[in-house]
Amino acid sequence: MGRRTGRKRSRLVTEKPPEGAKEMDQDLPSSNSSTSSYSDAEPETKEQERPMAKKREKDKYTPYKAGNYIRLYDENSQKKEFIVFLNREEDNIKISDKDRLALSNGIRKHCVSGVMHLRSINAFKIGITFDVPNNANVFLKNDKLLNELHMVASIPASETEATGVLTSVPCDYSNKKKYQLIASSKKVISVRRFMRRVKDAQGSVSFVPTQTVAVTFASTQLPEYVTLDHWRHEVGVYVPPVKQCLRCMKFDHIAKYCKNNEVCSICSGNHNYKTCDKSTTKCANCGGRHIAISATCPLKKEKIELNKIKSMDARYADLFSGVAFPQLNSKYVSTQSTNLTKNDKFMNLLVEAMLQICSNNDLPKNSKSIREVLNNTFNKKTP
Ligand SMILES: [Zn+2]
Ligand SMILES: [Zn+2]
Ligand SMILES: [Zn+2]
Repeated sequence: MGRRTGRKRSRLVTEKPPEGAKEMDQDLPSSNSSTSSYSDAEPETKEQERPMAKKREKDKYTPYKAGNYIRLYDENSQKKEFIVFLNREEDNIKISDKDRLALSNGIRKHCVSGVMHLRSINAFKIGITFDVPNNANVFLKNDKLLNELHMVASIPASETEATGVLTSVPCDYSNKKKYQLIASSKKVISVRRFMRRVKDAQGSVSFVPTQTVAVTFASTQLPEYVTLDHWRHEVGVYVPPVKQCLRCMKFDHIAKYCKNNEVCSICSGNHNYKTCDKSTTKCANCGGRHIAISATCPLKKEKIELNKIKSMDARYADLFSGVAFPQLNSKYVSTQSTNLTKNDKFMNLLVEAMLQICSNNDLPKNSKSIREVLNNTFNKKTP
């Protein structure tokens, strides 16, 4: 039963952006590196033609979410501010000056307490920052005011949740079944199996289940492990796909919020890729000889590395913040870190490595090169 204990377990799982998903819907010439990729997208099958077995198969892999779950701030949170997002009830309607004015008036009229400030996040979203968690939570349930404004309030997932990854999970379990069978020290709120997108020789696309499963917890810290049907699975760090705009090809936003001119993903000219007549490729971001969405782009690789580092925060942020240190549930991590920070030799080596990293301007500041320096320093000095 070695497959369940997964000896070759990767602690860091990067999700490749799905080629067929919403924001990735360009049928670009294949960059030939990716014949398959992980995907959130559901299998595309024609509704009328789908036999019952196929439908059951599809339901099996539909992401499962806990019912009745509302994102709320932890009343004991040590954070300094608590943000709540506001959107219009109708999707795709931008927030107008009239909406903004109505919000300020509404806050006064309904005596909403604890508002530190309001700000525009993007054309569709406003952020309200509260002073304490309870004030933010109370605002989320203020249906009277929200109905008056025709707005919906929510807490961003990153403020209260973290997603981890389990590997070597047998494909027979549906997402719902896994949700029912998981036992964890943190509340589980959703389960979704990674699907691999496969193209056959005729070019038709299908999705096959993988043994990797993403689990989202109602906590910004991941548990060390969960048990699934009594089998222990270590919880690895989930690395989300890099956000890339398919209008201007730049990173960290999507086309819906893009204010830039359209850029061709093939030649980087100012036209849609569908009308491109160039025979050579030029990346709009780095100028290299690849299409702008290629995973071989050095700038994209850097973004992926950055995502990895950010994702590691879910596991280690609280560990090093000091504030939350005594509240750590995981005895293992706490003991390990206490031992390490009390160890003078370890600290000296760490300082030496960090000085090297800071003073060497030629060293690329990514996790690979930093890990290399750390490895060199520790391997050289430790007996
Ligand atoms: Zn853009
Ligand atoms: Zn072009
Ligand atoms: Zn590039």
